[in-house]
Amino acid sequence: MSPCNNCHSGCCRSFAVPVSGADIIRIETQLELSFWDFVCRWADPEGQIARNHAPHFHFADEADTPFVICMTHQNSTFFPSTTKCRFLVEGEPDETSPLGQARCGIYHQRPGACRAFPVRLNETSELVILSNIPERGRGTDEPQYELCPRPWEKADLDSVNTMGDLVTSQFEMKFFHRLAEVWNRSPRPWAAFPDFLHLVYSARVVDETESSQPAAAHAAPTLQPTVPRLAESTAGPDSGADYTAGGQRPVTFPTQPPADDLRRAA
Ligand code: SF4
Ligand code: SF4
Repeated sequence: MSPCNNCHSGCCRSFAVPVSGADIIRIETQLELSFWDFVCRWADPEGQIARNHAPHFHFADEADTPFVICMTHQNSTFFPSTTKCRFLVEGEPDETSPLGQARCGIYHQRPGACRAFPVRLNETSELVILSNIPERGRGTDEPQYELCPRPWEKADLDSVNTMGDLVTSQFEMKFFHRLAEVWNRSPRPWAAFPDFLHLVYSARVVDETESSQPAAAHAAPTLQPTVPRLAESTAGPDSGADYTAGGQRPVTFPTQPPADDLRRAA
C-alpha cells in the first residue's frame, strides 16, 4: 500500500508547487477554472523555490523581483492557522487520524511536480531516483507539516508510469523555461501574463505546411511567433493574484534537487 493512503498529505500543506504552462492550461481546460482561480506568483529572490527547476519570471509591476509561478494555498479548514494547497480535500480529524485524512481533489489533472514527488530523473534520464524525504516540510512545529508516515520504498513506485510522469514533467518545464526567456525580454504586468500564456500554447500545434518552415518561423519549439504576436495582445484582467499566507512561505517540491537539501521554511 502506498504511504499516501490514509496520509494527512503533509506535502500538499508544506510546499509551494511550481506549475508549468501545460499544467495551467490542463487545469483550466479540464476543470473549467480561470487562471486566477488557482495560480499565484511567489517572490523568489534567493532562488529557493525555483531551485534550478522552475523558471523565474519578471513582471513590469515589480520589475526587480524574480517570481516563480505556483499553485495557490489557502487556510486549512480544520487547522486554520496552517495552510494547504487549494485543491487538497481534507477529511475531518478523528481519534484514529488526528490530522485527518486528505486527498488531492484534482488527482488526474494534478501538476507535473505533484506527479513526480518524491522522485527525480538521474542525469541521463534513464533511471528514477527515489529521494530521501525529510520528516517535516517546514521548519515550524505544526504536526500538519510532517511528511510521509513511513519511508518510501522502490516497490511503492511503478517503474513505467513513474518514468513517463517524470519525462513529461521535465519536458514541459523546459518548454516553460523557453517561454520565460521570451517573456522576460520585455516583461509586462502580472495581469497580462494569462493572455501571453494562452497565446503561446494555442500556437503549439502546427500543420504540415507550418512544420516544414524553418524552425524560427513557427512556434514549437522556439516560440518565435509569440514575440511579434505579443505586441498585438492586450493586458489581461487586473485581478491580481499575489499570494501571501499569513507570512508563511512554503518551500518547493524537491523534484530536481535532492530532497535532503530541501529548504525548510523559516
Ligand atoms: S506526505 Fe508523503 S505519504 Fe503523505 S501524501 Fe505526501 S508523499 Fe504521500
Ligand atoms: S494539486 Fe493535488 S497533489 Fe498537488 S499539491 Fe495540490 S492537492 Fe497536493
